[in-house]
Amino acid sequence: MTGFTTTILHNDRLSDIEHGSIHKPIHTAVTYGYADARELAAVFQNKQSGYRYGRQGNPTVTALEDKITKMEQGVASLCFASGMAAIAAIPLGLLKAGDHLISSVFLFGNTSNLWQTSEGLGISISLVDATQAENIAAAITAATRIVFVETIANPRTQVADLQRIGELCRERGILFVVDNTMTSPYLFHPKDVGAGLVINSLTKAISGHADVLGGCITDTGAYDWNLYPNITSNAKKQPSPLWGITQLRAKALRDFGACLSPDSAHQIAIGAETMALRIERQCSNTVQLTAMLAAHRNVAAVYYPGLSGHPQHQLASDLFVAAGSIFSFELAAHIDCFDFLNQLKIAISATHLGDNRTLIIPVAHTIFFEMGIERRKTMGIAESLIRVSVGIEEAADLLADFRQALDFFN
Ligand SMILES: *Cc1c(COP(=O)(O)O)cnc(C)c1O
Repeated sequence: MTGFTTTILHNDRLSDIEHGSIHKPIHTAVTYGYADARELAAVFQNKQSGYRYGRQGNPTVTALEDKITKMEQGVASLCFASGMAAIAAIPLGLLKAGDHLISSVFLFGNTSNLWQTSEGLGISISLVDATQAENIAAAITAATRIVFVETIANPRTQVADLQRIGELCRERGILFVVDNTMTSPYLFHPKDVGAGLVINSLTKAISGHADVLGGCITDTGAYDWNLYPNITSNAKKQPSPLWGITQLRAKALRDFGACLSPDSAHQIAIGAETMALRIERQCSNTVQLTAMLAAHRNVAAVYYPGLSGHPQHQLASDLFVAAGSIFSFELAAHIDCFDFLNQLKIAISATHLGDNRTLIIPVAHTIFFEMGIERRKTMGIAESLIRVSVGIEEAADLLADFRQALDFFN
């Protein structure tokens, strides 16, 4: 087995590509012709592999799915038009009215909204503090089908008790789904803690350049689909390790239509080639920046699992290769967060994370504004909280930029 980057760089060449091309070409065709019409029928009946229609599969997208499967050390992956489309596929493709999903309360804002929408469709949702597996255990009912958590929560960086939640789900036969976006498959493999399905927003670290949207679900092979009640007889025509992905492909990708375009798949694959290099630089920058901020008199608090004072610092050190490149902080009370942001010359006031550029955002006023102050309180989000996604600029430039902006308020 080769290393992470070697594997990604050379994966397309493992199957023959015409002219010795080193990239999988961008296949733009929406439909696929067969010289023997019986073959067309066999493809439609899943008796033979092959492409039929662009919404249900595309060779350029398949090449990307194959790389993400290798990154996650899984068995199969399915790409979507965005990370949210991949997450929405979980209730749409795997749950029914009356089913119960337990989720971490510390969630990406749009996922939190999606759970509210799912409740409207008759799925019951329990939101619990997932930093302690006991809270998950206490919420389990006979109807519980899925436990869903993020690795490091955005923006307050709470780390889920992944190992123990994984053990609990295995004991109870519950499907464990992990959103790995904040860590990426370079820093963490949810398969190692027993997650059956892994979500990655490809828009973030995997593509890395803030110029393309995409999402992916990977089946790690850790879950026995024979234990899952809602599998259709159609999906059961496949071998059981493929039941989950087959059902998601039919019920979520095909029927709801949020497919990844081949152009986007190519762009994401190009970004993925340098992901490991970018993440190493981003993590190293983040360690330096959070240390500087934590020691500065104009900073009241810094939240980063890489800092020894973080409540889940030990957990994060045990689980992840590094603590990632997202952190949040609060300024001293006398500083207005907008005045501070406007002093920065390099860090950009913008949403998004995992980009090459350092991005900074006042959370309660923007991405978590819609949910209101009460909900923000339950998620541990102070009104003055600022989130930073650290880029690949030279560390000295970032440190100087943040230092001059902080010193302005002396
Ligand atoms: C950004 C993000 C998503 C959604 O991804 P999109 O590609 O923007 O739809 C989901 N989960 C987490 C943790 C994210 O950061």
